[in-house]
Amino acid sequence: DYALELAGIEKVYKRGLPGEVAVLRGATLEVRRGEVVALVAPSGAGKSTLLHIAGLLDTPDAGSVALTGRNMVGLSDRDRTLARRGDVGFIYQFHHLLPEFTALENVVIPQLANGVAPAMAETRAHDLLARVGVADRASHRPAALSGGEQQRVAFCRALANGPKLLLADEPTGNLDPETSDQVFGTLMSLVRETGLAALIATHNLDLAARMDRIVRLDQGRVTEIKAAAPKPVQG
Ligand code: ADP
Ligand code: ADP
Repeated sequence: DYALELAGIEKVYKRGLPGEVAVLRGATLEVRRGEVVALVAPSGAGKSTLLHIAGLLDTPDAGSVALTGRNMVGLSDRDRTLARRGDVGFIYQFHHLLPEFTALENVVIPQLANGVAPAMAETRAHDLLARVGVADRASHRPAALSGGEQQRVAFCRALANGPKLLLADEPTGNLDPETSDQVFGTLMSLVRETGLAALIATHNLDLAARMDRIVRLDQGRVTEIKAAAPKPVQG
């Protein structure tokens, strides 16, 4: 039961030009429902490229992409956008909240874009903000929030449309260690509560160690460096 299946993904930038770079060379990765996977690699190894392909923001040169068991290769741009809005949530190092809108509005707007009725969208936004402990900040604009609060609001926005897969690129990279730890704790409990799958690129090995599995991107391929702990035997 997979949220994400990437198989044999290849991606070359500047093909045939000076500076051609083969970033992904047969990358294969599966993320099960309910699983949180850390993606670690040095800068420039292709983490963002892999996340963009997994999140249907970019297309591979070769290989297959499936979300919740549905093949995503060869879809029209429109179908890809619809699949992305429905199935995928993104979190970035910098929150990318809309500065002229309140915290609440930032969580409401993606739902409106997805066809949710305004009253329902607002109820859901309030519920999400309360779950991450920023309900009392709902009517503030991002500039009035701390870095940790802004990132919590960004989590709520990413989860606003009930995605099946959460993709995060250095989600705590711009926070101080203590705030980073708290915000990461919030992220993990949200992911656990909602049972969604997450693929989280990070340089922070302490955070990576708290996830279910760690994979590494090396020479354009994905290798497992910490396998899931065996589940306790039932019975
Ligand atoms: P990471 O996220 O691990 O730092 P990226 O996926 O951003 O890695 O980039 C991997 C490599 O591909 C880098 O060498 C980068 O310069 C190159 N690259 C990324 N995007 C493009 C692009 N649009 N055009 C050309 N080269 C790119
Ligand atoms: P919208 O509903 O505004 O059209 P999309 O469906 O295009 O947004 O995008 C959905 C998600 O993908 C958003 O969370 C957005 O942050 C992210 N996204 C869209 N385009 C890009 C891009 N070029 N680079 C990084 N993230 C993007």
